[in-house]
Amino acid sequence: MEYRINKRTGNRISTLGFGTSYIAQAKESDAVATIRRAYEGGVNYFDLATAEGRTFPYFGAALGDVRKNVMYQVHFGADYHTGTYGWTTDAEAIKRSIDWQLTRLHTDYIDYGFIHCIDELSDWQEYQENGAYAYLLQLKEQGVVRHIGLSSHTPATIQRVLDEAPVDMLMFSVNPGYDYQKGEYAKGSVEERTAIYRRCEAEGIGIAVMKPFSGGQLLDASLSPFGQALTQYQCMQYALDRPGVLTVLPGMSSVEQAEHLLGFFNASEQERDYSMIASFSPVDAVGKCVYCNHCKPCPMGIDVGLVNKYYDLARNGDSMAAEHYHGLGRDAGDCVQCGHCNSRCPFQVDQMARMQEIAAYFG
Ligand code: SF4
Ligand code: SF4
Repeated sequence: MEYRINKRTGNRISTLGFGTSYIAQAKESDAVATIRRAYEGGVNYFDLATAEGRTFPYFGAALGDVRKNVMYQVHFGADYHTGTYGWTTDAEAIKRSIDWQLTRLHTDYIDYGFIHCIDELSDWQEYQENGAYAYLLQLKEQGVVRHIGLSSHTPATIQRVLDEAPVDMLMFSVNPGYDYQKGEYAKGSVEERTAIYRRCEAEGIGIAVMKPFSGGQLLDASLSPFGQALTQYQCMQYALDRPGVLTVLPGMSSVEQAEHLLGFFNASEQERDYSMIASFSPVDAVGKCVYCNHCKPCPMGIDVGLVNKYYDLARNGDSMAAEHYHGLGRDAGDCVQCGHCNSRCPFQVDQMARMQEIAAYFG
C-alpha cells in the first residue's frame, strides 16, 4: 500500500480507498469479509455514500474494533429512510440520517463530513437555505465532524463552493473519459477540469476519486466511449497522476475484487501505463503533457512527468511546487536534448522544447 498526506489535515491516506457503490451486491458475510480484507491490505479510507442503507452495519461489523485506524467520509445529504439512497438538503432529515448511520457504524465521530453531491449552484444555495450546511458546521464545531469535504461532478460549482466553504477533501469524478469529455459525468472542459486539479494541489485540498472506471464503462470495449477497454490498474494510475489526488475509491463487492485491486501495488510499470489514451485525445489535449511517463527512460534520469507537473503547478501559483522542483535530484537543466522523450511521447508533446522552457522558468 502507498499513502499520501492531506496537507490540510495531516491525515495519511491510502492511495487505494474503498468505494461503496457495489457492496450491496454481496451478501452480508461476504461484504464484511471484503471490507476487512481491504483493511488488512492497508486501505484506511472508506467512502460511505452507499446505495443501500442496510450496508452501514457491514462497516460497523468489519471495522468497529479498528475504528481509530480508519477514516470515514460520511455524506450530509445522503438519506436512507426508504432503505435505498436518496438525496436531501433538509436539515432535519440529514440529522436523522447521520444519527442513524453513526449508530450502525459503531462510532461517534466522522473523519470527513461531506457537503453532499452539489452539482449545480442552485444545489449549493438550497443546501445553505435549508440549514444542511449550518448543521454540518455545527457538528464540526462540536468535534463530531473533524474535517469538511465536498462531493461534486461539476468544476464550476466546485470552484464556487471552495471559495465559500473550508473544504479539506474533494470527492470528484476522475477518469480519462471524463477528462476528455466522454461519459455521463464528463462535466467541464479540459481546462476547467485541469484547473480543479491544480487548485486542489496548490491549496492542499485532497481529492478522493469517485467513478475511476466511469461506472465500469472504460473496462469494457463494447461500452467504452473510445471503443477500447482500459484496465483497472491503468485507470487507477491515471487518476493518481492528476495533481491533488490522494486516493482512488473503486467499488468492491468480493474478497477477490479487493485482492485484485490491492495487486495494483505489485503491478509493473507496463501494466499501469495508460498512454494508450493518447489515441483518443481531443484536439485541445494534443501536445499537453499528462505526466504518464510513457517516455521513460530518460538517459539523464529526469522524471519527465514529475518535472512537467511541478512546472504546470508552479505557473499556476503553487509555491510549494517550485520548492518540490528545486528538491529534485535531476531537473530540466540536466536535459541534453537527446530526443528520446519526443520520439516516445504518444501525446505529441515537444518535450525537448519544454525542458528548455522549464529550465529557463526555474532558473
Ligand atoms: S512527455 Fe508525453 S510520454 Fe512523457 S510524461 Fe508527458 S505526456 Fe507522458
Ligand atoms: S530530451 Fe532531455 S528530457 Fe527528454 S529524454 Fe532526452 S535528456 Fe531526457
